[in-house]
Amino acid sequence: MELNTRFGEYGGCFVPETLMVALEELESAFLNIFPNPAFQKEFQEYLTTYAGRKTPLTLCRNMSKDLGCTVYLKREDLLHSGAHKLNNALGQALLAKHMGKKRLIAETGAGQHGVATAIAGAVLGLEVDVFMGEVDIARQALNVARMNMMGARVIPVTSGTRTLKDAMNEALRDWVARVRDTHYLIGTVAGPHPYPVLVRDLQRVIGDETREQILSAQGRLPDIIIACIGGGSNAMGIFHPFIDDASVTMYGVEAGGEGLDKKHGASLCGGRPGVLHGNYSYLLQDSYGQIIESHSISAGLDYPGVGPEHAMYKDSKRITYTAITDTEALEAFLYLSRTEGIVPALESSHAIAFARKIGPELSKDALLIINLSGRGDKDVETVLRYMRGAA
Ligand SMILES: *Cc1c(COP(=O)(O)O)cnc(C)c1O
Repeated sequence: MELNTRFGEYGGCFVPETLMVALEELESAFLNIFPNPAFQKEFQEYLTTYAGRKTPLTLCRNMSKDLGCTVYLKREDLLHSGAHKLNNALGQALLAKHMGKKRLIAETGAGQHGVATAIAGAVLGLEVDVFMGEVDIARQALNVARMNMMGARVIPVTSGTRTLKDAMNEALRDWVARVRDTHYLIGTVAGPHPYPVLVRDLQRVIGDETREQILSAQGRLPDIIIACIGGGSNAMGIFHPFIDDASVTMYGVEAGGEGLDKKHGASLCGGRPGVLHGNYSYLLQDSYGQIIESHSISAGLDYPGVGPEHAMYKDSKRITYTAITDTEALEAFLYLSRTEGIVPALESSHAIAFARKIGPELSKDALLIINLSGRGDKDVETVLRYMRGAA
């Protein structure tokens, strides 16, 4: 079997020649080791007894009443580590272990993906090095401490703007040097082929469970699914099992930041196609093709690119992409906390905010599912700071 290396014109493998062998080795492991029943049995056991799958699909009675339609939340906030990222980190780490790798590397901006990688490395007995910009290390002290406690090394990146995109370059450089014993654990549906397919298939458990749960609860498919988009992995995870169901409308919600005419993180709504992180997709760039730094109140959506499969669905219009501002996300954070007693991640709050916008326009039998990608404990300080009026 061969995998498509492209999504329409997007995707591909824009990497140094020396990495092609590693990417082919990973693709081969994905095709041959991953489907193996023994591997799947072990993986499923980690997902259920360690990570806590399956996650619930919660009927939100108060929010439904308020918006005038039926609203469910898919509760990835209840996964171990507090977000969906662990589905991917555990899957890739286990695959790397079966490939005979001894070491995981990752790059991280806010530290959430670094933490998920540190967790997977600790439980599977793999060495972990996380590349992180110096500026981000200073901003995200708590996540740096969490990674260190779980035995991961955090390596400061001092080049360029000392943030996520520089950490990405550093991780790729390290991988070139140590490809034999090292797996590069990419945290979203971006990067060179086969990562966009691999990460999607590791996250589609969210959508597979959702499908089964909504059919059992309501006897039919949802009308609308909403998810936030940073790189696009939680969204692709919940969307993908419904892609062929024409009756299901899907909305991907990007970080509108201070507005699409100001600083934002909305690559699909406010960017153009180009090459970043080994693949061709929409990204934030200036007229010279240099990457523009993104901005979002939520660290997890603060990424200047987006997965190539989303780029394809944007052009084909299968999925509608939209953006929510920092202020709207903040209001949705407080709204869900107050209305349902669930404190959402600021990332997920973008999806909640969009539901609040369209809910009142829908018919009262509309059935809406929002992917709650993570919990908001990590964001409480940020929210307090914004509420006090300091950004
Ligand atoms: C990282 C993160 C995101 C954004 O990443 P995607 O790949 O777009 O899913 C969204 N929500 C939470 C809680 C995150 O930690």
